[in-house]
Amino acid sequence: MQKETIIPESRDNAFRDLIIKMPGGENLLTCMQCGTCAGSCPVSHEMDYTPRQIVRMIQLGLKKEVLNSNTIWICTTCFSCSVRCPRGIYPTELMETLKPIAMKEGIRNKNAKFDTVFADVVKKNGRASEFLLFSKYSISEPGMIKQAPFGISLITKGKLPLSVAKMDDTRELEAIFKLGEENDGMETEK
Ligand code: SF4
Ligand code: SF4
Repeated sequence: MQKETIIPESRDNAFRDLIIKMPGGENLLTCMQCGTCAGSCPVSHEMDYTPRQIVRMIQLGLKKEVLNSNTIWICTTCFSCSVRCPRGIYPTELMETLKPIAMKEGIRNKNAKFDTVFADVVKKNGRASEFLLFSKYSISEPGMIKQAPFGISLITKGKLPLSVAKMDDTRELEAIFKLGEENDGMETEK
C-alpha cells in the first residue's frame, strides 16, 4: 500500500504523556523502531499505519493522525506484536487504549461493515454462523463476489454448514446488546 507522507498539523505532547501512563504505553518511549511488531502483524497490510508507525507517531504527539488511523480498528488483538517486542512494549493493549479515546473524540470505525454484520448475526442467533456471516457480508460488500467460488466449494465439501444453531434463550444476550447500544448512544451525544 502506498503510504502518504505525514505532515503533522500539530504536535500534542499532552496526548503522548497521557498514553504513556495508560495500559500498553508504559514502555513506549523505549521503542527502537526495530519493526518486529509490524513484521509480526498478520493484518498490517490493511492498516494505514503499522504498529511500529503508530508507536512512533505517539512519541511525536501526532494525536489527530493516530486517532483517525484505521489501525486501531483493524487490530485483531492477536498479541503477536506484544509477545515479540524486545522492549516490552504492548501494542495490543495500546490499540485497546486508543479506541475509547478516539470514541470520546467522536471518531468511529469508518469501515465497520463486517463488525456490524457479525454483531447482527450473534444478536439474532446467540451464536456466530459462518454461513450467515459469509452470505450477509457478501451482500454488503460487493468486492466479496470474488470469494463466491470459494464459498460454494466450502459448502459442497460440507465445510460451511447451511443450518444455523440458535441459542435457546437469547434474552440475556439481547439485554447486553441493548446496554451496549445505549452506552454507544451516550458516547455519541457527548
Ligand atoms: S517491536 Fe517494540 S521496539 Fe520494535 S518497533 Fe515495535 S514497539 Fe518498537
Ligand atoms: S495485536 Fe494487533 S497490532 Fe499486534 S500483531 Fe496482532 S493485529 Fe497486529
